[in-house]
Amino acid sequence: MAEIMVPAQITSLTTLDPGEVRIIELALPKQWEVEGIEYPVYDTMRPGTAFLTKPWGTRTEKRRRRMYTRSNANVDSEHCLETIINFTHTERSDTSAWWQTDECVEWQQSAQPLDVKVEWNQDRTALQIYENSQQCHATNLRLEPDGEWESMKFLALAFSTGITPFLSYLRYMKHRNFGRSDTLSGSFLRLIVSVRSPQQLMAHDELLSLERLFPDNFQYHPVLTRNWPQDWPYTQGRIMQEKQTGMDGRAIDLSPLLAVVPDIQQYHVRFCGNKAARDQLQEGFQQYSLEPRSIRAEVW
Ligand SMILES: Cc1cc2nc3c(=O)[nH]c(=O)nc-3n(C[C@H](O)[C@H](O)[C@H](O)COP(=O)(O)OP(=O)(O)OC[C@H]3O[C@@H](n4cnc5c(N)ncnc54)[C@H](O)[C@@H]3O)c2cc1C
Repeated sequence: MAEIMVPAQITSLTTLDPGEVRIIELALPKQWEVEGIEYPVYDTMRPGTAFLTKPWGTRTEKRRRRMYTRSNANVDSEHCLETIINFTHTERSDTSAWWQTDECVEWQQSAQPLDVKVEWNQDRTALQIYENSQQCHATNLRLEPDGEWESMKFLALAFSTGITPFLSYLRYMKHRNFGRSDTLSGSFLRLIVSVRSPQQLMAHDELLSLERLFPDNFQYHPVLTRNWPQDWPYTQGRIMQEKQTGMDGRAIDLSPLLAVVPDIQQYHVRFCGNKAARDQLQEGFQQYSLEPRSIRAEVW
């Protein structure tokens, strides 16, 4: 079946750290015509999933297919996909460099469209925004079904733009009052996010105010690894570290993480970041003989 893409406009572009991190917002059409017939485009994306678009690659000088995790939620931002993109600084960097350029701003100003993938719904009566994962799995971060997450206690550990799936969780959970009712206390999510410097903090004020609004359901712990204000009340430096032992052994030091979450075994751990950090966390759990209630991790 032919792939269907719809044109999206960059409706907002916020530079958090020049050349390094930008928040992007893409607006999608609500209808789209296929073979002469107009179909509705539904926004059914589940928190924690990613959409597919075709940004420009500065290295390859062509449009590339890339996946981005949505950082907002369909419940209050229908047809508007927010994501946060960082420059990866690798030899292969292609589109991640382009998103930080003035050319990207020019695309926004001249309303140059970006294609976003959509797919047919089950009975082929409508289109829906494509999402990368349909089922919850150990290697993705699709949020558990409604009726499950409301009674779960999550530790979300995010490295840099790895915060995106958890921002989507939190915006969705806030909309659903964290699953609180007269008889139920709702879900609990403790977010630990690690970035280099204060200007790389994403949605910082929003997260602080969410914590004030829902103190029994949400706790926010932003870690700064390179520079921090003198009075920074959270972790300063890495939340976990690799240490060489002997000639070729390595040990993982989880003590900064365990200082923040001493009862980590009580949590459903969710991780988003790079592969090296994911491996360190898993090795650390093994070395400390720690078994959280469940672990799911997505790496890019
Ligand atoms: C599910 C998912 C969600 C994501 N969400 C986000 C997000 O929210 N924010 C964000 O900043 N990034 C996200 N990413 C990462 C993003 O899609 C890009 O991969 C990243 O921004 C780097 O893009 P790039 O084009 O600069 O380089 P790359 O994607 O690293 O690719 C550069 C070049 O290397 C090639 N290449 C890639 N891997 C290999 C390999 N193993 N061997 C040989 N060639 C290779 C590619 O084809 C390309 O030509 C996500 C990725 C996935 C899979």
